[in-house]
Amino acid sequence: MNIHEYQAKELFERFDVASPKGQVASTAEEAESVAREIGGSGLVVKAQVHAGGRGKGTFKNGFQGGVHLTDCPQKAGELSSQMLGQVLVTKQTGEEGRMVRKVMIAESVDIEHEYYLAILMDRQSCSPVIVASTEGGMDIEEVAESTPEKIIRQEIHPLAGLQAYEIRNLCAGLGLKGDFAKQFSKLLKNLYRLFLSCDCSMVEINPLVSTPDGKILALDAKFGFDDNALYRQPEIVAYRDTEEEDPREVAASEYDLNYIGLDGNIACLVNGAGLAMATMDNIKHFGGDPANFLDVGGGATQEQVAAAFRIILADPKVEGVLVNIFGGIMQCDIIAKGIIEAAKETNLSVPLIVRLEGTNVKEGRKLISESGLDVITAEDLSDAAEKAVQAVKAARA
Ligand code: GDP
Ligand code: MG
Repeated sequence: MNIHEYQAKELFERFDVASPKGQVASTAEEAESVAREIGGSGLVVKAQVHAGGRGKGTFKNGFQGGVHLTDCPQKAGELSSQMLGQVLVTKQTGEEGRMVRKVMIAESVDIEHEYYLAILMDRQSCSPVIVASTEGGMDIEEVAESTPEKIIRQEIHPLAGLQAYEIRNLCAGLGLKGDFAKQFSKLLKNLYRLFLSCDCSMVEINPLVSTPDGKILALDAKFGFDDNALYRQPEIVAYRDTEEEDPREVAASEYDLNYIGLDGNIACLVNGAGLAMATMDNIKHFGGDPANFLDVGGGATQEQVAAAFRIILADPKVEGVLVNIFGGIMQCDIIAKGIIEAAKETNLSVPLIVRLEGTNVKEGRKLISESGLDVITAEDLSDAAEKAVQAVKAARA
């Protein structure tokens, strides 16, 4: 799960991570009045979407940039009206872009230097790792590619926690001394505490800045949270903004289905993550492209299967459906009933390829063959994938 920058600022405040004050607004008028409230010598207006690269992004209406500096509240309102309701395309949004529904107005600060700071859960070392660089700002990807030696990595032992010497190493690597080092050390300790307490998978501050008046501040914030830990993070869940998520995935989460939308045209309905992966591999092997990953789980009900079917068919890109079920705990006849119910209800008009095996397979196959549905049955996994790819090609021809 991800959150917006204005929400990240609330977390920063709670965990005492120094960051300029900011407030969210959803209309230009609100933005202007918030800007007046914040006052001060300068303001920054920032589009709120779950994607980075906003500064260098372009709106589909031609307006340049999702981050703007101004010193006039009225101008903050005008800038907001250019961004609100518009689609922002950045390096991270894909070409479809993201609709901007909110902006954040914050005190702008003068920047002396931009650093990069992130904490990630690293699977390879099975520990949190701190990533930092003196070359923060909008071109960090470029830095990582052309001058990887400028990226510092510090693995943190999960039991020992963040050690003083590790912080000193990071300060040295970033060239931070004296009071800057002190402020950085405090900020990093608090950020690490936040990272662990909120079950983050990632927190990225780019840029972390030093200012001419001697402060270290987080100017940007991007968070990722471990979905499997959300059950114990009600305050984080409250930040969820489903409008920023793939609508297919939002619908699937309501039925406890493990669904990830992809770009292909062959929808998959499978039980078990391993089998789902193998099914996708097989589709690829025969020259097709999966439209999704979908694991209905080991003990799915008829309702869940029907919901899964409706969700995959609501995707206009889908040109064929491949059902691959190995009935263990799950019974093939239950699956068959769910498929038949949903296929009838949705007036299924694309090829349906079904491979059923395992518990109650005879009953399941009988139900499908007597359902009147136009189903292509398959013997095994690769037979199913090959038939699905062929059927979609044939339907196109
Ligand atoms: P991103 O492009 O989505 O990563 O958005 P950021 O929040 O990082 O903003 C983009 C860039 O705008 C930053 O890298 C900074 O250089 C600049 N910026 C953001 N806030 C301020 C600010 O308060 N003052 C100044 N001078 N620049 C800012
Ligand atoms: Mg940034």
